[in-house]
Amino acid sequence: MTKIGVLALQGAFIEHCQILRRLAVDCVELRKPADISQDLDGLILPGGESTVMGKLLNDLGMLIPIRKMISEGLPVFGTCAGMILLAQRLSEDSIPRPGTMDITVRRNAYGRQIGSFNTVGTFAGKRVPMTFIRAPYIEEAGTDVQILSVEDGHIVAAEQGNQLVTAFHPELTDDPTVHQHFLDMIS
Ligand code: GLN
Repeated sequence: MTKIGVLALQGAFIEHCQILRRLAVDCVELRKPADISQDLDGLILPGGESTVMGKLLNDLGMLIPIRKMISEGLPVFGTCAGMILLAQRLSEDSIPRPGTMDITVRRNAYGRQIGSFNTVGTFAGKRVPMTFIRAPYIEEAGTDVQILSVEDGHIVAAEQGNQLVTAFHPELTDDPTVHQHFLDMIS
């Protein structure tokens, strides 16, 4: 059975496990360094507050091992704050993070007033519901990055090799399309 580890330091991790279990995938919560040394087929960095998650990852000694696992090819899926943690470059902030994906991300990119909204958009050619909460977007993507979704002229989902990111929260909808896409990347 496929086993995915979901970083469970803060934020919306329970919802990822719920959707994964519906897809018949084993889901384990990762809270401390020992948790990431088990055999995992993939990793999810959830939404939440990237400054808090980055600091905790660093303080707990999980940041460098996770960066190494991703660099060595472990499939990873970052949603919202998780996307921020995977970005090699942030437009305005400096946050301790794995920073493994060749993208530039702007945090709270829609401004405070309109940062949270629901829409239906196209992800990798499929229509999916998209929930944005104080969302970031991708300002620039490297040539190896494949753009999966553009909403209102902004890149909101992309992949690069073993890495998948969305600015929105598919785990807060009941549509499993994006998680299934991640599982397809793994297999
Ligand atoms: N605004 C948050 C941050 O900068 C991200 C919000 C989210 O994950 N829903 O970390």
